[in-house]
Amino acid sequence: MIHINENYLKLQANYLFTDIAKRIKAHQDRRPDQNIIRLGIGDVTHALPAVCITALHTAVDEMAADDSFRGYGPEQGYAFLRDAIARNDYQARGASIDAEEIFVSDGAKCDTGNFQELFDTAIRVAIPDPVYPVYLDTNVMAGRTGCYSDGRYEGMVYLDCTASNGFVPQLPDTAVDLIYLCFPNNPTGATITKAQLAAWVDYARDNKALILYDAAYEAFIRDETLPRSIYEVPGAKEVAIEFRSFSKTAGFTGTRCAFTVVPKDCMAYLSSGEPTSVHSLWLRRQTTKFNSVSYPVQRAAEAVYSPEGKAQVMALADDYLKNAAYIRKAFTALGFECVGGVNSPYIWINSRRDAWDFFDLLLEKAGVVCTPGVGFGKCGQGYIRISAFNSYENVQAAMARIKTALG
Ligand SMILES: *Cc1c(COP(=O)(O)O)cnc(C)c1O
Repeated sequence: MIHINENYLKLQANYLFTDIAKRIKAHQDRRPDQNIIRLGIGDVTHALPAVCITALHTAVDEMAADDSFRGYGPEQGYAFLRDAIARNDYQARGASIDAEEIFVSDGAKCDTGNFQELFDTAIRVAIPDPVYPVYLDTNVMAGRTGCYSDGRYEGMVYLDCTASNGFVPQLPDTAVDLIYLCFPNNPTGATITKAQLAAWVDYARDNKALILYDAAYEAFIRDETLPRSIYEVPGAKEVAIEFRSFSKTAGFTGTRCAFTVVPKDCMAYLSSGEPTSVHSLWLRRQTTKFNSVSYPVQRAAEAVYSPEGKAQVMALADDYLKNAAYIRKAFTALGFECVGGVNSPYIWINSRRDAWDFFDLLLEKAGVVCTPGVGFGKCGQGYIRISAFNSYENVQAAMARIKTALG
């Protein structure tokens, strides 16, 4: 008899986006005349940078001729892309990451989801609340939790991110082995300082733990004092993996390219206590289960690092940051407490009432869609997330409507 992995039965059906879609549809049926402005989704809206389009065209033409055609590429990604990443994202910022430590992939979602399979089922895992759901659900699937009750899985160590800690989690009181951190954060938009991040690196070193650091929104950092990479913290190379993506940085959500940094100094332990290389394990895993990213897409990602590419990507993020600043200013003027929206495309707003009630109010009275914070975890109750991924005109119109609706 074919038995299923019953850990899947513990998963909470993610009703968040279906629920949102249902409420939008009901509203649209009542008000067919109203054009709804969506500030809910974590997907970009601007086209790919011009340098990426040119690189894609050129690479597609290479694929059209036998003498320049490419079949399977290296599982870890082409050297031209890994070199560009190591040089521009790390070495240029004083982090000594080598091209061999870069693993190109088709998304930070799969990498952040897959990485936990290198580790024992019995390890203790710490996950922020609120959180990008991938980290949590993949650990549930792997059998690292008990059942779900009252908004939480048994056996998981939750790191509360609330107004009282500035949405940066405190070190846990119980020892943990694997720690997920994401800065600038989705959904709160909060950032972490180098000193705060150093405290986590020290914790990991003291406890022989490992940090999985999701830096998918690094391109939105404008404050030069904030770390863009965990490897800007001394000693992080031994205890941290970093995930990055071209999705939010360069509009690759539909094109698919990302990368994971696994330093060769990074260790995990055998049951005997003997250290073993995480890099070797991930290399083995990727070469077995993955065949990298298509050649044209890797060329498009490489183009992001050309001088024109850097300028275009900067302009793209600046556009969204302008929206974010506008949203934050408008909600602040209306008397709401906001986090994020600076160095981040997300604004986390204290709705001072049930998150879904505020969602319904904004939808019904203003025709604006947000995301109820409770969809990201228990600590998200009483908050909504507004995303800056839209046009400036739509953002201005949305805020004008919200002002009228709440005024
Ligand atoms: C969007 C996002 C990613 C990127 O996912 P891709 O699979 O690379 O598109 C990763 N982490 C977080 C927190 C995100 O919001």
